[in-house]
Amino acid sequence: DASSSGKVCTRFDLEKETELRFEVEAGEAVDQVDLELQTGMAEVFGSELNRNKKYTFGPGSKIAVFTWQGCSVNLYGKPEVAYVSKDTPMLLYLNTHAALEQMRKQAERENERGPRVMVVGPTDVGKSTVCRMLLSYAVRVGRRPTLVELDVGQSGVSVPGTVSALCIERPADVEESFSVQAPLVYHFGSTTPGTNIKLYNKLTSCLAEVFSQRCEVNRKASVGGCIINTCGWVKGSGYQALVHCASTFQVDVVLVLDHERLYNELKRDLPHFVRVVLLPKSGGVVERSKECRRDARDEKIREYFYGFRGLSFFPFSFEVRFSDVRIYKIGAPSIPDSCLPLGMSQDDTQLKLVPVTPGRDLTYHVLSVSSVEDGDEDARKSIVESPVCGFIVVTNVDTQTQVMKVLSPAPRPLPRHTLLIMDIRFMDMK
Ligand code: ADP
Repeated sequence: DASSSGKVCTRFDLEKETELRFEVEAGEAVDQVDLELQTGMAEVFGSELNRNKKYTFGPGSKIAVFTWQGCSVNLYGKPEVAYVSKDTPMLLYLNTHAALEQMRKQAERENERGPRVMVVGPTDVGKSTVCRMLLSYAVRVGRRPTLVELDVGQSGVSVPGTVSALCIERPADVEESFSVQAPLVYHFGSTTPGTNIKLYNKLTSCLAEVFSQRCEVNRKASVGGCIINTCGWVKGSGYQALVHCASTFQVDVVLVLDHERLYNELKRDLPHFVRVVLLPKSGGVVERSKECRRDARDEKIREYFYGFRGLSFFPFSFEVRFSDVRIYKIGAPSIPDSCLPLGMSQDDTQLKLVPVTPGRDLTYHVLSVSSVEDGDEDARKSIVESPVCGFIVVTNVDTQTQVMKVLSPAPRPLPRHTLLIMDIRFMDMK
């Protein structure tokens, strides 16, 4: 069966409480796959589909179309896989939402705060997806929850190497997830918390403080609570970072996906009033290879500069004189305790601002533009704890003329001149 677009059309009739899972092949020259709801009702990760509307999914997409009542859908194009599954944990996820909603109702009645929820588990168990569903369900019943994104490897909100918070005001877009308006973003600088765990914990605390302040002045935000997405690193310092997060955010609920030992450890180590719940992962969640994850990170940076399908941005390229900016790396390489200056601890070195002398090796690095005011020397101390206002990529460095060329979402001049270097590189292939 061929559709008007010339793509092959496949029809799927879904019984109630089943889901159609499909994947679009990854790669450059791959055709997108369109999805269209014909009859009945269905949702993609908590967002309802409109009937007779085509939703387009690009290379690498892994999607589940779930229906509570039954439906029929068409797929146009050639997905890498497409099958219907009856075995999904969706009912458990919906029950989780119902329980959180009860807590919000109670918070409303008793003038308390709503649930603060931390979602944990190893990589590729569907943490981000569960967060997305719980947030979309909450907005659909009129709540205004906050998404806290602590996954520095695969951020759903900003570029990799950052942690962030975002107030959710409408359900996730079926194709593009949450529209990213004015998130609060902090520079971490690398894709795993382990490169600087002190900084990671510090930034988690910063986000918790800002969120708590907002809850004090905004009743809806307070009742809505937050859903915290975390990294898949659940051992050693990674585990300690989860415990730290639970304490600094004063979480009420921890959802552990598919990891019984982690569940038992958290039950043992968190205060007894924290509800720790073990949930199964969905059989649909697909394990992603290292390359797949790297591609996803690259794509996220590309989107930041160039936009996505429906919305194109046109970034700028211009020269910046070394003398006009101050570039720092956060954290000095650790040195043996015995070599530290008197009165200094390892903690201090991990949060220290180290000036970076621009050289050729700066090329392709992503730099965060700190929001601290230029020339505010007192602010120097707080650069680490200040949000960022955007990102640039160094595309060329000329040490002779002391000038570097950058890719920027906005035209010259840079809004601020304090830059923080990331481990992350981006090669612009456009
Ligand atoms: P994590 O945050 O734990 O690393 P994600 O939530 O990002 O995992 O899920 C990994 C991938 O699996 C994503 O591409 C997501 O779209 C996909 N996915 C999640 N749930 C399902 C499902 N039920 N069916 C098909 N794909 C799914």
